Amino acid sequence: MIIILRPEADPGPEELRQLEAVASRFPDLTLRLHRVQGAFQTLHEVYVFGPTRQVPTEAFAELPFVQRVVRVSSRYRVIGRHGGQAPEVGFEHRGLRFSQDSFHVFAGLCAVDTRQHVELTMEALRRAGLRTARMGAYKPRTSPYDFQGHGRACLPYVFELAGKYGIQVIAMEVTHESHLEEIATALDEAGHPTGVMVQIGTRNAQNFELLKHVGRQQAFPVLFKRGMGITLEESLNACEYVATNGNPRIVFCLRGVKSDKGDPHRNLVDFAHVPVVNRLTRLPVCVDPSHSVGRRDRAPDGISDIWHAAAQGVIAGANMLLVDLHPRPEAALCDGPQALTLGELEPFLEDMRICREAYLRRLAALRRGRVEAA
Ligand code: PEP
Ligand code: MN
Repeated sequence: MIIILRPEADPGPEELRQLEAVASRFPDLTLRLHRVQGAFQTLHEVYVFGPTRQVPTEAFAELPFVQRVVRVSSRYRVIGRHGGQAPEVGFEHRGLRFSQDSFHVFAGLCAVDTRQHVELTMEALRRAGLRTARMGAYKPRTSPYDFQGHGRACLPYVFELAGKYGIQVIAMEVTHESHLEEIATALDEAGHPTGVMVQIGTRNAQNFELLKHVGRQQAFPVLFKRGMGITLEESLNACEYVATNGNPRIVFCLRGVKSDKGDPHRNLVDFAHVPVVNRLTRLPVCVDPSHSVGRRDRAPDGISDIWHAAAQGVIAGANMLLVDLHPRPEAALCDGPQALTLGELEPFLEDMRICREAYLRRLAALRRGRVEAA
């Protein structure tokens, strides 16, 4: 059960006491308050855990500061939309808004290799007008003999250069809870020139202990990548671990699922699930065309498969794009074959603007049609 408080409500000890008093009339209920920081106001929701089936919604709805009580049945209770009853809220990080209405491109190195490559990449991002990047420091590799990432050693120059080029948020994968601490310390030492969105990679999509850890911290929002070999339903339930442990500031990322021997693409592109995740959850949806397609082949029309896949995600309403970019893909220590070159960045962004614009025009046309039909 979710209790949605009135937008103007700012629950203090008295409101919490009244909620607890109602809860105490029923056995084994626990309450958890979630604050959602928006651009202009803070929204509050209270999650009710325990045997809520016997609890009439009016018990809480009668309180003057309660707007609505939603009875939730699906298993991903906090992230779920519950048939549209739970509002889409979104969140802010470093002055950027992430919601099912926003659109951001996070481009950059799959794996940080040299300071020079980080600087060339950040410079290109700024020239292209981007304030968001991807930078892999901790790399979960299929083979233990492959480059594992520079880890915390690269964080000082990654954060310093992000600050120099005005990058506000970096998507960065963590594979162990200790990485959260290392990132927090490095940001402190650098004086917080930028922010981080911690990424849970597809290989850790069901690493429940790691999910609980990223859920228990509030410093970083989370980019959760769907599991490549599990169902969407299983991925959504795994993602709920983050939210129910206290951090609902999540972006859900589609990145393809395992297919027939990686042929013709590294993974089977699953961007037809953008509207599905939009409908089932309240989370912004990201697509990663680089890890799903995995190669730079071009169609006869001259457009590469990665661009085509990205376009499919964006025209379906994706809110974020995570894309590999490298100054010298041939020298990259990880995933060079799928990286855009710096020269491709601006034409790629222009293509994505066309797709976003097309999505917004599709929406406008649909709404016009509805009004005319009414
Ligand atoms: C990545 O984005 O660097 C990555 C390893 O992706 P995935 O977890 O989707 O394979
Ligand atoms: Mn990669």
